[in-house]
Amino acid sequence: MANKSLGLSSELHEYLLSVSLKEADVLQQLRQETAQHPQQMMQVTPDEGQFLGFLVRLLGVRKALEIGVFTGYSSLSVALALPDDGQLIACDVSEEFTAIARRYWEKANVSHKIDLRIAPALDTLDTLLAEGAAGTFDFVFIDADKLNYWNYFERSIQLVRSGGVIAVDNVLWSGQVIEPSNHEPSTEAIRTFNQKLYQDNRVTVCMLPVSDGITLAMKH
Ligand code: CA
Repeated sequence: MANKSLGLSSELHEYLLSVSLKEADVLQQLRQETAQHPQQMMQVTPDEGQFLGFLVRLLGVRKALEIGVFTGYSSLSVALALPDDGQLIACDVSEEFTAIARRYWEKANVSHKIDLRIAPALDTLDTLLAEGAAGTFDFVFIDADKLNYWNYFERSIQLVRSGGVIAVDNVLWSGQVIEPSNHEPSTEAIRTFNQKLYQDNRVTVCMLPVSDGITLAMKH
């Protein structure tokens, strides 16, 4: 949703980027192409992409899962940070959006790390569980339709290993989570998700006001 971190003035956000953001050329090109897209607000912000790549390196991720690809900025950020034999299973329903993503994965020479599954993500996650992939993922990024956030989380917590991290995007929803008159289904779904996760003793949670709000949940 937001194109900058919540609550920071434009000037302070510009400063933050000027002393921290190092965006690969291929990511910058993808961001510029996606900026022309009518749904461009679905793209993660560059500082968020850099944060995801940082987490992948910090955690030594070898096997990652992404739920919601869009034009591939976050998957490219993750794939660039993975080791050469690392794997990212990327879930999306759109051939159209992911065609852009695939073009940039090729350009960045990371296609061999990415296994794109075009299907409803819940089906892909259930297939992975049926194939015995429970406990094998180091990292999950959830950034798809908000109504299914809890369903994605319930599958992800099974798929991730102990000590692995599930990152969830848009948890502050441009501030709409505290707007009492907003009863949009997506807003309500995010409120419910945040409350349930707060009470979930299977994970340790940290909520960061990066971009549109990111929650990190580490599985016990
Ligand atoms: Ca998002």
